[in-house]
Amino acid sequence: MWQFENERERGRKGDLAPLTYDRKPLLSTELIMPDKKVYIETYGCQMNVADSEVVLSILKEAGYSQSEEINDAGLILINTCSIRDNAEQRIWGRLKAISHLKKKRKDLKIGIIGCMAERLKEKLLETEQLVDIVVGPDAYRELPLLVAEAEAGHKAVNVLLSREETYADISPVRMDRNGVSSFVSIMRGCNNMCAYCVVPYVRGAERSRNPQSIIKEVKELYEMGYREVTLLGQNVDSYKWDNGDSSAGFPELLETVAGISPLMRVRFSTSHPKDISDELLYVIARHRNICKHIHLPAQSGSSRILKLMNREYSREWYLDRVNAIRTIIPECALSTDMITGFCTETEVDQKESLSLMEQVGFDFAYMFKYSERPGTKAARKYKDDVPENIKSERLSEMIALQNKLSSASKKHDVGKNFEVLIEGASKRSEAYLSGRTSQNKVVVFPGENHSKGEYVNVIIERCTSATLLGRIV
Ligand code: SAM
Ligand code: SF4
Repeated sequence: MWQFENERERGRKGDLAPLTYDRKPLLSTELIMPDKKVYIETYGCQMNVADSEVVLSILKEAGYSQSEEINDAGLILINTCSIRDNAEQRIWGRLKAISHLKKKRKDLKIGIIGCMAERLKEKLLETEQLVDIVVGPDAYRELPLLVAEAEAGHKAVNVLLSREETYADISPVRMDRNGVSSFVSIMRGCNNMCAYCVVPYVRGAERSRNPQSIIKEVKELYEMGYREVTLLGQNVDSYKWDNGDSSAGFPELLETVAGISPLMRVRFSTSHPKDISDELLYVIARHRNICKHIHLPAQSGSSRILKLMNREYSREWYLDRVNAIRTIIPECALSTDMITGFCTETEVDQKESLSLMEQVGFDFAYMFKYSERPGTKAARKYKDDVPENIKSERLSEMIALQNKLSSASKKHDVGKNFEVLIEGASKRSEAYLSGRTSQNKVVVFPGENHSKGEYVNVIIERCTSATLLGRIV
């Protein structure tokens, strides 16, 4: 184990996680047990959801169980996100809201885990005494010990980052509620040093997980009835396993995972435009069960801003990669992340971002205002000089454009047939089922006698702003 942050500052070329990205930006899960009960709340991206599942597994081994009720738990853990300032502010607000429980129950322990723990370290223990335990993303194995230390009245902190930890041997306790789709983490950390991003600082250097452990986990999920896995990493295209005897890159790993069963859909996130290769695109095209959707964050459409962001590609390179995707996988959906108001961004840069979005015709996008993160290259070297109101205006303009593009993408699907993996009853009515197409679009249709985990063919008859509506054919 290494106190990695300082080492990074000295030795690496550069500087410094959806929701997600996330289908569920905020996930609240709890563990119960007679005297050892843990309640865990997860904020941030899919990686954090996957990490909470690892944490629950470690605590289960130590005798804890899941609680649905915060008031029943002797241990409350908050798995945190540092990606933008508002993510951290939300967590501070939540911490204050739950701190009153400590007044009533002196034995209650509260822990902050994940990215914010890594970024703020002891500060979290010192500030207003709201927190008893602080654990960074590479120290979860120590959690049972740290909880014991906190119970003995000591400060319990471990924020050491590791060059090796991938939690490969740990079978995560599944927190998803549908039992159909799950996340599998294939790597940790990031080596990319995008100028705005705190991830390399709070999650450490990139390391890939042993492919055998990934394949074992996916097989187990299949046997448990899961029918979709999303392979997770900050930059899956740079997955690389090499132990001297065998080696594998992401295309090989993806192909092997897809070979586990034709009934198991495989997704992945996130791809980096500088690294996504034709080899990978051909693997996706070859396998029916590899989903035809690529999340390819552009961040900006201006080559000047991309250079400042240290993204290592230009607008032209990004468009070339999109061309390759359209040629090799014509039915592929594309989504992106975009940032408005990065340092020095002008109206001309903003127009270039909008024109890139229109030119690609993204099916979906996550859009953010730039938020300066302490310690990043942008925070140290550039001025956060776009006023907040301009950042907001540009964001609204971008969201309005993406709403049009998303709507056009759905209208384009009307009249077509899609294979849909059923995830469960629709939110509005038990008589309707909800599922996803390979392109990751949500479809709602009358359920007939079908149930979750099954594949059905659905013809799309109409759409709303968020959903395709159809019937089974
Ligand atoms: N590794 C992925 C990549 O390179 O695209 C994404 C990681 S990050 C968890 C998810 C998204 O948050 C990024 O794609 C970026 O759009 C956004 N993001 C990261 N840092 C940000 C910041 N300082 N301000 C605003 N948005 C940020
Ligand atoms: Fe952050 Fe860039 Fe790494 Fe993504 S690739 S996690 S944006 S540093």
